[in-house]
Parts: sequence; structure tokens; C-alpha cells
Amino acid sequence: MHKSLPAIQYESLAFQNIIPSAVSHTRSILAHSEPNEDTIREDMTVTHLNDIHCHFFSEHFFSVLSRSRADLGTGSTVVDALGWDHPGSPIALAQRWINEMDVHKISRVALIASVPGDEDSVATAVAAHPDRFVGQFMLDPTQDDAVERTERALTDLGLRGICLFPAMHHYSLDDECVSRIASLASAKKHATLFVHCGVLSVGIRKKLGLPNNFDVRLGDPLAIVPLALRFPNLPIIIPHFGAGFFREALIAADLCSNIYLDTSSSNNWIKYHTNVTLTDVFQQVLDILGPDRLLFGSDSSFFPRGWQKPIFESQQAVLQEIDADLYATQRIFYENFERIFAL
Ligand SMILES: [Zn+2]
Repeated sequence: MHKSLPAIQYESLAFQNIIPSAVSHTRSILAHSEPNEDTIREDMTVTHLNDIHCHFFSEHFFSVLSRSRADLGTGSTVVDALGWDHPGSPIALAQRWINEMDVHKISRVALIASVPGDEDSVATAVAAHPDRFVGQFMLDPTQDDAVERTERALTDLGLRGICLFPAMHHYSLDDECVSRIASLASAKKHATLFVHCGVLSVGIRKKLGLPNNFDVRLGDPLAIVPLALRFPNLPIIIPHFGAGFFREALIAADLCSNIYLDTSSSNNWIKYHTNVTLTDVFQQVLDILGPDRLLFGSDSSFFPRGWQKPIFESQQAVLQEIDADLYATQRIFYENFERIFAL
């Protein structure tokens, strides 16, 4: 049963251009989505916040990474070399995330198991806090056990998002191994596909001096179009606005209503464009796709750095700069996530 929100929550919003219909529409959205009283934000223009893109850097993640080069030692020595906090058990790491989310008043976060084979770590976090976490997992669809892994993750482990990195794992998006996975996902309620396109820069690999043997050509958003058309009920999320393939990501999303863009990271790919700012990027997406297919993400990952508030603040400022109305803002920061990952 939802709790009704006090009127002050709406009246304190700092938007200049709120039209009455947008306010009443948002009222019904917020009432419908039953926000947790503890996660109602009173200090910012964004009253409810979900984050679709955070990495769950588990013990297993570091352990797999340590096998990349003999001198890296164990997962534990990798963490020490990075100067980061040890994640502890998946339960302990999940609790750390929850504490962080509570500090920043974030309702729900979609966590990514960030190496193939780490589904169980994220599943543990989701099982402990099913109303706060959505589980996503990196999958290499070229592996023999990819179908089995996907079936298990989506059915037994309660995960929702399959994350593909074609440039990293060297396959084409029109390969049969991808459509097999997409077919499986589209048959499950609330499953999604995340496809990393464009420039792939894995900061942790860079820090450890590991080679990034990625084939960027394989991450062309236009290659998602046939897949999206074939599985129109499967939401497909392209992170970082296409990470350098912005135009291609926009075209793909314009052609397929089941393609979404996420706003995550510092969006440094903008440097490849002349005279383009993040403000221009948001404006163009809103002009072409409208507010229903853009999802806020921060790309947060390790502790003690924790949740990347500056990413949120800069994107919130951009939306204010372009006078995005309350309806659009709530869609991007909260409601689109709720719709895709309905509880
Ligand atoms: Zn990421």
C-alpha cells in the first residue's frame, strides 16, 4: 500500500517551467510507483533517484582479474595495489552499497557483475535486498555455457540484465550466439539486454597496466537494430549515449522503440565531437527520443570512492540548463528504471 506524499515535496521543486499538467502527471507517477519514504529527496530538484549503471566489484571479480598476469598475485593483492577498500563477502559489499545508497537517498541501483562468471556475487546482493538492487551480469555469448548461464541467471538467480561487451569479447552483434541469448531474454518477463558500444575504456585494467585488446568496430549501435527489431519486447540499453557513436546510437534508438540510452560516466567521448557539450547531447536525445528512453546511470564502482555524486549533479544541472520539465526529469532519474525493472 502506498503512502501519500506530502504536498511540500512537489512545491519545493526548483523548476521554473513546470506546467500544471506535468505536475499532476508526475503526482500520479510518483503515487503509482510507491516510493520508499526513506528515499524521498527533499534537498534537490530530483525527488526520487535510481541508478541503472553501477559495478559490483566483488571478491570474485578481483580474483578473476588477478589471473590476467602472473605478477598480480591474488585478488587481495590486486585490491591493495589499487589502494581500494577490500570488498569483503558479497553480503558485506551489498550492505556497503545499501549504506551508500541511503546516504545519497537512492532508491534502487542496477548492479553489474563485471566479469563473466560472477553472477552469484550479484545474486547474493539481490537476494539480500530485492527491493533495492537489480542484478545484471556480464556475459560472453561465445562461450559454450552461455545459454546455460543465462538461463540459470534469469531463472534461478533472479538476475534481470544481460550485459554484452562485443568489442571486448570479439564477436559481431549479428552473430547467432547473440540472437540465441536475446531470444532467451525476450521470453523472460522483465529481462533486459545491455550492449556496450563505442569506446571501451576499462579504468581498472588501465591502472593495472593490463592490455585492452578491444575491437571498437564491433560496438557499432547500428548493429543492434536488426536484433531490436527481431525482439521488440526486449528492452536494449546502450550505455554512455553510445560512447562515441552518439549519432549511430540515436539513429538506432530512433528506429527501434525498445532501445534505451543510459547517461552514465563522465562521457569523455564528447571530446571526439567538435563544439558539442553534454547539454547538447541531452537536448538532442530529448528532441529525438523524448524523455521515456533515457536512463540515469553513474558508472560507480569501487570503494572508498563510492557513489559518483558529481556525475549526478552535473547531469541534474544540464537538465536545469535546458529547462527540462519535471515530467522529463523524473522519467530520466527514476521512472524509466521503475518501468523497465518493475518489482
Ligand atoms: Zn560501466
